[in-house]
Amino acid sequence: MSVVSSEPEFEQARKELVSTLENSSLFEKNPEFKKALEVASIPERIIQFRVMWENDKGECQVNKGYRVQFNSALGPYKGGLRFHPTVNLSILKFLGFEQMFKNALTGLNMGGGKGGADFDPKGKTDNEIRKFCVAFMRELSKHIGADTDVPAGDIGVSGREIGWLFGTYRAERNRWEGVLTGKGASWGGSLIRPEATGYGLVYYVDLMIQYASGGKESFKDKRVSISGSGNVAQYAALKVIELGGTVISLSDSKGALIATDKGFTPEDIEKIAALKVARKALTALEAHSFKYVEGARPWKEVEKVDIALPCATQNEVSGDEAQALIDCGAKFIAEGSNMGCTQEAIDCFEADRKAKKAEAIWYAPGKAANAGGVAVSGLEMAQNSQRLKWTSEEVDAKLKGIMKACFENCLETAKEYVTPAEGEFPSLVAGANIAGFSKVAAAM
Ligand code: GLU
Repeated sequence: MSVVSSEPEFEQARKELVSTLENSSLFEKNPEFKKALEVASIPERIIQFRVMWENDKGECQVNKGYRVQFNSALGPYKGGLRFHPTVNLSILKFLGFEQMFKNALTGLNMGGGKGGADFDPKGKTDNEIRKFCVAFMRELSKHIGADTDVPAGDIGVSGREIGWLFGTYRAERNRWEGVLTGKGASWGGSLIRPEATGYGLVYYVDLMIQYASGGKESFKDKRVSISGSGNVAQYAALKVIELGGTVISLSDSKGALIATDKGFTPEDIEKIAALKVARKALTALEAHSFKYVEGARPWKEVEKVDIALPCATQNEVSGDEAQALIDCGAKFIAEGSNMGCTQEAIDCFEADRKAKKAEAIWYAPGKAANAGGVAVSGLEMAQNSQRLKWTSEEVDAKLKGIMKACFENCLETAKEYVTPAEGEFPSLVAGANIAGFSKVAAAM
């Protein structure tokens, strides 16, 4: 019998959740939740389909498309679409599973789902990407709707792709409804949605800093190492800079970009955003105050770090890298990516939290720390249903409120179900898992 799991990412996400639930008093206090866990571990429905499209040479191409409708106890299935060559059912099941609890933590009524395709936008022309989006939505449109399932973007799917997908949905179904979020601001999108995941992440970490320092510290003068250079990393970096912190790294799939001088400026981030739209590598950035380390992630390349924000993809911090971050002084780590840390990395951070108490590193998982993106997606759904549009200030204020409620929920839940030892910070990973799961289980 093979010992290699056929769904390694999904099993990793499930085990991580289950281990924190089992090491708490949750099942003792709510024995009926054991069954709920068994039921919630199986998606309500998985849709798989063929996507046939034509490249610029007129040749027929084919990809695999998916939508995992994981759980609708709290509302319509909600979660992004990922277009990346690594996409398979294991990855989409892990993402859908995490999404269900993340969405619960926003306090809004959204179920959990995820979808995508093994299509690689890299090396494709704009026209080819558009054709792929049209072909993908021709099939997906049969299975979604504003009150059924509301996809959004994820890796490889940004506002432009959402536009092509939305146009196809309208044409296929002959209806305008809030069936996708992350739409353009002039055609039904919410203001602050592009910024929301990055901003929300920084708001969450700011609350961690305030709690840990008794309100004495903030992002001001903190050295922040970020990975990734997509939407989440860009807006996290801009918010860190706005709050007085220094961004000392970013990265792409080929290597890490380390600031050798003063850190990234908003102008650097703007240039990087333009490179990403043109699907170019970070090496194309013309600047003298950076070094590009090929084949590396930032964590072992940076010196003196206060805060680490993995914002690229899953399993982007290994156990070794976690230890390296602790050794170079990091005090806060929060995931902008989904399952950014391996189980070994989480174990390393949690062991440090227990051993060094107030001097330890404090880890926040993505399902809490990056919930701002889907939270503003929920606000976009609300605006679409009401046929209203809120101002940037209104949306940003609501986002801040949601991140604060999410942080306090994680904190209080951890204190209630896994009483921390004297002087120890509550485990935000246990708090997030127990709070998110309990809400879904109770609704089921
Ligand atoms: N892909 C994002 C996430 O992982 C956003 C999903 C959404 O807005 O529906 O949370």
